Order: sequence, then structure tokens, then C-alpha cells
Amino acid sequence: QAGVKDSTGSNKPNSKFPNGYVNSFARRQKIIQQRKSLPIASAEKRLVEEVKKNDVLIIVGETGSGKTTQLPQFLFNAGFSRDGRSIGITQPRRVAAVTVAKRVAEESGVELGQRVGYSIRFDDYTSSSTRIKYMTDGLLLREALLDPYLSRYSVIIVDEAHERTVHTDVLLGLLKKVQHARSKSGNDHIHIDNKANNGTLAVAEKEDGSQSASLFKKCQGRKFLPLKLIVMSASLDAHVFSEYYSGAKAVYIQGRQFPVDILYTLHAESDYLEAALITIFQIHLEEGPGDILVFLTGQEEIESVERLVQERLRQLPEDSQKLFTVTIFSSLPSEQQMRVFMPAPVGFRKVILATNIAETSVTIPGIRYVIDPGFVKARSYDPVKGMESLIIVPTSKAQAIQRSGRAGREGPGKCFRLYPESEFEKLEDSTKPEIKRCNLSNVILQLKALGVDDIIGFDFIEKPPRAAIIKSLEELFLLGALTDDCKLADPVGRQMSRLPLDPIYSKALILANEFNCLEEMLITVAMLSVESIFYFPREKKEEARSRVKCFSSPDGDHLTLVNIYRASDEFLEKRNMGPGKDKREKIMRKWCKENFINSRSLRHARDIHSQIREHVEQMGFCVSSCGDDVLQFRKCLAASFFLNAALKQPEGTYRALASGQVVQIRPSSVLFQAKPECIIFNELVQTNHKYIHNITRIDYLWLTELAPHFYAVQN
Ligand code: ADP
Ligand code: MG
Repeated sequence: QAGVKDSTGSNKPNSKFPNGYVNSFARRQKIIQQRKSLPIASAEKRLVEEVKKNDVLIIVGETGSGKTTQLPQFLFNAGFSRDGRSIGITQPRRVAAVTVAKRVAEESGVELGQRVGYSIRFDDYTSSSTRIKYMTDGLLLREALLDPYLSRYSVIIVDEAHERTVHTDVLLGLLKKVQHARSKSGNDHIHIDNKANNGTLAVAEKEDGSQSASLFKKCQGRKFLPLKLIVMSASLDAHVFSEYYSGAKAVYIQGRQFPVDILYTLHAESDYLEAALITIFQIHLEEGPGDILVFLTGQEEIESVERLVQERLRQLPEDSQKLFTVTIFSSLPSEQQMRVFMPAPVGFRKVILATNIAETSVTIPGIRYVIDPGFVKARSYDPVKGMESLIIVPTSKAQAIQRSGRAGREGPGKCFRLYPESEFEKLEDSTKPEIKRCNLSNVILQLKALGVDDIIGFDFIEKPPRAAIIKSLEELFLLGALTDDCKLADPVGRQMSRLPLDPIYSKALILANEFNCLEEMLITVAMLSVESIFYFPREKKEEARSRVKCFSSPDGDHLTLVNIYRASDEFLEKRNMGPGKDKREKIMRKWCKENFINSRSLRHARDIHSQIREHVEQMGFCVSSCGDDVLQFRKCLAASFFLNAALKQPEGTYRALASGQVVQIRPSSVLFQAKPECIIFNELVQTNHKYIHNITRIDYLWLTELAPHFYAVQN
């Protein structure tokens, strides 16, 4: 098991004293009081009994009733991890896993990473003494690759199941198999295996869908304790889960909800950010006390609204300036995430700018007003074109209702929906499960690595579209991860499944090892894994553009990203900064500001970089650089991203070769003016236009040379 560490190797923030909190007797008393007053508190005994009686239990309870923070503590106190195994709780979102773990560590009065810990991709805060472990749903799926029986867990709680992320859906299926296999193994002679089992789960599906016999064969002689499974949801659709687990029992926790006034706009708003801004100040100046929660779609929007709030605040008379903003989104560095829970200074009003993380995953006390522009960033997948994109779409009715509910947790509240009432009626009732609208390559690769060969026959809670499965199988085959009879290819497919990245990026790293440009590719993949590395304030757009030019490479955005990363490295080196981390951070922030780089994003990229570097080194790869031979790197990009190649059209647009779509280069690309003949790209963003970005120029002939299995046939 990994020791306590964080991705930067930094000092561990002490969970007992999150930023700004004073460790006092009063605070402990307050926490005890808060816990006692939660709706779930009175149900402790009953819940523990139900978990003892039922192997699968569905728990439904209003957001904020205490499910996520309290249930694991109840189970711990009831001895569910007395035998050295852990209680695992999955969350769809990284931020939720981190903030909840910190809160629970504090409530339990232990240091984070000891009894209570969290583990998310690129950041592990657990130790061998961890018994309550919060993690993302995706991370538990990855753990299954090393420990197919999840033998180190006595209980697994799949939290926020109503979110129906693709990882949650696959996990629900996998847990069904694991639970079945573990109970079949019998518990007459109990053997606990805390070490990772390196074997894989060879599951030959039989006609009737049962596979435990063959699964069991692989674990000859090993006995497992049964696994308790708890599915928690904040919506009332418990029957879906109950039916899936052959009529599992569902229990309901009575929530507490005060009335919330819903207000709509008279007309549709053309600019919802501006509308949100106006509403924030309207509430601030005209309404009674209480904090404001604003739902935005992503980091970029949040940061821009934050700046605008601060600008406008300065124009108000001094006694009206008592407003303070906090933000929460997934890539926010983890020590800044807890700031959102800090109460506003006396006399101040807090404005929380959040993504839909604040919808159900994290409950922030003190909110009286909710501003809901009605949008969310969602994945969308076109299986015919094989194109996944992130698009901003209207929320569902269920999401709108959840959002407004955040205003009525502690007293009557108000929710301002920034659209007319007639629009609400037109919204979809609920959000479509992600598995129906995303690229499945990643999860299929993982299922294959777990020995689940018949993907179409897998017992999904809801089947993904057949076309999407086939497209992803095809993609994995083209990337060399699967053999032509659809088995996991060794070693490439297996190596790819081990890397915590999208298959296409994993493949890029494997190829870069061969092309001798792994150093460049590691940087590229890390930089591509974060949102918005640039930071262009509206009023300084021109200055920012010209500044960024000094990093830009005539070959494209990938090398530009590499240049930025290296420049930041060099800057730090020149300063010869010692171990003083705070000083380092400060000086880095200054450098970023001068160069119009988003310092949070760059930091996140640096963290990711060091983590994947560790992974590839463990795989035995040697991290070398191609130096000035950038041709080598561009060829490697072409070989890696050949599925995203595009050719210039006479009118200056591009045609994506694999899908035939007409796309345009996004103006922020360094190749926007140059418009080379042939390019590869990494991302397609769909607004009014189909914009591609992160682009590198390549030679058309390389495609037939480097990806003949795809391009020779097409030609
Ligand atoms: P649920 O999972 O049912 O939505 P939670 O267990 O997440 O509920 O939250 C229970 C309560 O704990 C909420 O009232 C919330 O305000 C409080 N809470 C959760 N995390 C924190 C935190 N980091 N700081 C302060 N209060 C918190
Ligand atoms: Mg919860």
C-alpha cells in the first residue's frame, strides 16, 4: 500500500486544522452538535442493522442529510472494518472525495491519511491504517485491475449513484460479479488477503450470464469474506438499483427541506454570465443575509465571473463591498478546496461559484440563495463519427430541482433560474446516464483487462448503445490495444490499461518511448489533461496574445505547451529555489501572471506530469528527449493521433479524415493564421462551430507510413 503522500510531495496539510480553522474546544463542540442534528443521526442503529442483514442495501436520502459523511463512520464504529479490511466509498467527483475525507477526518479527530483517507487519480492520501477510504468511482475500477476481488474491502459504498457516471455504471456491474464470487467462495474458513492479487479475473461468460465458476477457478484455494454493497442516491429512483440487484432492500432517510421560492426571468437571457453577475449584485444589495451559490459550467466561466464580481465590487460604495467570493471546481488544488466551507467573515456575504459539484456531491452550509443559469457541461458522443465532445447543454428538470434545493437546507430560501418558466417545462425530466453518451474505449479496455471479454453481454445496469461499443472496440483495435479477435493485446493493450489515462494518450506514451521523445510526450499529455492553461483577461487580450507568442512554436500547439512547461522549469531552476515550497509557489504565480498563464492549471499539470512519469518509469520506460529533433516528436504525434488527422479544404476549413466532419481551427491555436495543409488535433469543441484545438502540423504522407492499417485502406 502506498504511504501517505501527495502528488507534489509537499507538506501534508493537517486535516485537523484546515486553512483558517482554529482548533478549539468550541469547534469540536460545534462539530458534535452539527453531527447530532443531521437527519441521519437518529437512524444510525437502524442503518447498521440493515447493513448487517442485507448484502446489498440501497439508501436514499436528500442531499445534506449526512449519508456521505456519517454512514462510513457508523459502519466503522459498528466494527465493519475490525478485521483489517476497509470501508470504501466511491464518489463520481474528485473534489467530493477530497473534501469529504478531510471533513470526516476532522469529525473523527484523526489525521488525514491515517484512519480516514482518500485516493483519487494522481493523488493518494491513504496508508496501511486507513479504514475509511473515499475515492473516485474510476479509481476503484482501476484498483480492481490489481485486486479483482477487491479483497481489502469489507464494505463498498457506491455514493451518488443517481449521477450515473459511466464509471459508476460499470462499477455496479463489476461489484455484482465480485460480490457473487466472494459469497460463492464460502466463509467457512476465513482468509483475509490484504495484498494485491496480481492475477486477473478471467471471466468466461456463460450463456446464462453466470461466470463465478470460472472466476473462482482463478483464485484456487483462496477464500474471501463476503462483500457488503451499499448504493446511495439522492434521488427517488431507488427502484432502478433495487431491481438491478434482484429486489435489494431500499431504505429512505427523511430529509429536512425548507420552502424555496423559485423565480424565473421574463425573457430568455442572451448572456447568462452577465445575467448571473447582475443577479449576484441584486441579491447582495436588496436581499436579507445568507450566502449565494451560483452554478456555472467550468473553471473558465468561474474564474471569469470571479474577476468580474471583484471588479464591480470595487465600484460600489465601501459599506456595500462586504461580499467575498470562493470557487469550487474539479481541478482546484486540493488545499484550496476547503476554502469553500469557511464561513464568511462577520458582516460579509459569501458567493460560491461552483460547477455542478455543488448540486449533490458536496453540501456547503449557509446558503440561502441559488442562482441557476440552467446549464451544465456534459459529454456527448457520436458513435458514427467516433467523436466525443464536451458541450454546454441545458440541465434536466431533476438537476434544476436539486440545485434549487440547495437554498432551503437551513431555512426558507430563494432560487433564481435565469430562464423563463416556459423553458423549464421543456427540459428533459432527468439526465441521460453518461454511459449512453460517451466514448467507451476507456472502460472497455479496463473490462478487457479484467478478463470480461463479452462486452455486449456484460450485465450493465443500462446497456450502452451497441454502435458505441462497436466503435470503441474498433478504436481500441486501431490503437493496437486489442487483437483482431478482440482480445487484449499483450503487451500493448495491457500496458495501456495500466496507465490512468485515455487510451489514446496511453498509446502516445508507449509510442513516444519508441520514438525517443517520451520527455516531450509526458509534458504534452500532462498539459492536455488540464483545462485552460492560458489566462487571457478580457481587457488585456492583445497584450496576452503577444506575450504568449514568445513560447509559440511554428509547428503547433503541442510544442508550444512543451515550451511553456520548460520555460517554467527553467525559471524555477534559475532562481535556484530551495525547498521552501510557499516561496516557490509565490514566485511561480508571479511568473504565470506576467506570462498570462493560469497558475492553477500549470500547477495541476506539473502534478499530473510527476505522477505519470512515475507510472511510465515503473513500466520500465526510459524518459529521454528528442532534443532539437522536433520532427521526431511530430511524427510521434502523427502516429499517436492519426485518428484525429484533418486536411485543409479550399475555403480554409478542415475535413477530419476519420469522420468526414468539417471543422475549424480555434482562433487561440498558434496555427490559426498559418493554416497548414495537414494537421492532427486533440480536441473538438462544439459551440456554433465545430472548433478543433491543440493542433500540430504534420505531413500527409506520414499517415500512410505511420498508420498504414488505417490510411492505406482508406486511400
Ligand atoms: P449527504 O451525503 O447526505 O448529501 P453529507 O454527509 O455530505 O450529506 O453532509 C452532511 C452535512 O455535513 C451537511 O450539512 C454539510 O453542510 C456538512 N458538511 C459536509 N462537509 C463539510 C465540510 N467540509 N465543512 C463543514 N460542513 C460540512
Ligand atoms: Mg453525499
